[in-house]
Amino acid sequence: MQPPATPKADLPESAPAFAVERTLGRLGKWLRLLGFDALLETECPPGGFWVCCDRGRTLLTRTRRTAETQAARAPVFIRSNDPFEQLEEVVQALGLTAVDIKPFSRCLRCNEPTEPLPREEARGAVPDYVWETQPAFSRCPCCRRVYWRGTHTARSIERIEAVLSAVR
Ligand SMILES: [Zn+2]
Repeated sequence: MQPPATPKADLPESAPAFAVERTLGRLGKWLRLLGFDALLETECPPGGFWVCCDRGRTLLTRTRRTAETQAARAPVFIRSNDPFEQLEEVVQALGLTAVDIKPFSRCLRCNEPTEPLPREEARGAVPDYVWETQPAFSRCPCCRRVYWRGTHTARSIERIEAVLSAVR
């Protein structure tokens, strides 16, 4: 059987990358928001998820049976139902610190690293009030979605940083 294509063939050794089980989708999005490479099982073709797990990714699971059957992959077993507490569990399990996080550096939809977008090019691509008030923009090379540090996400980042400082 032909193994399915993986979006990430070569992962940098230093950056933690994750394979996120389907029950942890919201955690996966939070990891992307922080800049981590997070492959979601829900976005993989059937069987593809497990192939990707073998390529240097840390498996995150909340299913005890999966944790047992996939023990050889050294999964991180997540206990909480709350995405922030789940994030705290990941941070503790991997010993992550604020140095490891790069907020807004990855597309939430595609899991691709975003690229800086010059202000002039962002004009017209975002609402006028956003363009006038935000100093910096980035764009996904895949889906062309434009990102900026909005008020809501800035508050979320503060919460994330609180999680990180609590475990340091
Ligand atoms: Zn994208």
